[in-house]
Amino acid sequence: MAATSEFALTFSILKTCPVTKARTSILTLPHAVVKTPVFMPVGTQGTLKGLLPEQVEEVNCNMMLSNTYHLGMRPGQEIIDKAGGLHKFMNWKNGLLTDSGGFQMVSLVKLSKVTEDGVQFVSPYDNKEIMLTPEKSIDIQNSIGADIIMQLDDVVSSTISGPRVEEAMHRTYRWLDRCIKQHKNVKNQNLFPIVQGGLDPELRKQCVEELLKRKVAGYAIGGLSGGEAKEDFWKMVHLSTDLLPDDKPRYLMGVGFPLDLVVCSALGCDMFDCVFPTRTARFGTALVPGGELDLKKRKFAEDFRPIDENCKCPTCVRYTRSYIYHLRKESTTSSIITTHNVAHQMNLMKSIRESILEERFPQFIENFMLKMFPTKDYPGWAADALKSVNIHLPS
Ligand SMILES: [Zn+2]
Repeated sequence: MAATSEFALTFSILKTCPVTKARTSILTLPHAVVKTPVFMPVGTQGTLKGLLPEQVEEVNCNMMLSNTYHLGMRPGQEIIDKAGGLHKFMNWKNGLLTDSGGFQMVSLVKLSKVTEDGVQFVSPYDNKEIMLTPEKSIDIQNSIGADIIMQLDDVVSSTISGPRVEEAMHRTYRWLDRCIKQHKNVKNQNLFPIVQGGLDPELRKQCVEELLKRKVAGYAIGGLSGGEAKEDFWKMVHLSTDLLPDDKPRYLMGVGFPLDLVVCSALGCDMFDCVFPTRTARFGTALVPGGELDLKKRKFAEDFRPIDENCKCPTCVRYTRSYIYHLRKESTTSSIITTHNVAHQMNLMKSIRESILEERFPQFIENFMLKMFPTKDYPGWAADALKSVNIHLPS
């Protein structure tokens, strides 16, 4: 059991898997008691698109992510301050995590330029030139008031290599120091640094060494899940969790495919976020054990079963695949499927947690993989990643 009181969180490990690196824990935050491993859906604009906060609670989700970049642009820091923070503004009484804004800037804004000072860009909202510095990112995040906030990091695409990756890694911990200095709400908000270093094990190691010299409440693993080969992805996750301390939460950014959640939980990650389950719902795709259903397909026209017969979410107890197919051009569909997809992710994480607690996580992984790959044609990277933590899938 580990608990730290100098931060606005406590992290108590309930059980560590005796075979893999997985653990299940209780993460106590100012607004929520979160069981890990946890998946956090992404509410970009201060709303989970298509769902009311109470509907998010209804599927047992008590921790979500919001984007600093979007909220800082609109409604802007002043209005968030007047509203008394994002929890009050959006009527969300549970856990919140905000990113730093850096990732959006680099991925969404074409005209961005990174210097030692910060990220300079032209606002797509009003064409004004804006500079996002580590200090500014923390200021906005202090106004938003999320339970966990992220340092501004120097984001480099995971598909590039060379000196730019090294520069970004060094800049990331220099920026961390500026973020720590700027952070004004230590009692209620936890600042996480981000492990960077691209796909280079040596740079990742150096980055972790630097981060370990600073006092922080937990760690994020960044710069992955951006189109790199899966073989590289899992190795960087594995290396990072080996190097990070056991007694602090580890948040793997931007990961949310069910297969990745299972594998990366086995590699020792505690927290995940991704737009995937909610975005795919808006395109008419529902997540089910073993795969996905594209409910826009004609074959569902007379399918009167729920999306998932074993799911107890408000969608599955009320609506049929046929009805959802019928609604496919209505905005209601997106809400109906989003509800189920978030519930699906919550159920998956609950199963992971329970199996770790009951020391049957290896069996859970085996069953999960066989359901997803009935002919045992597992992706090589997943089989290798699991092998690295002593799970040998049946052939
Ligand atoms: Zn459901």
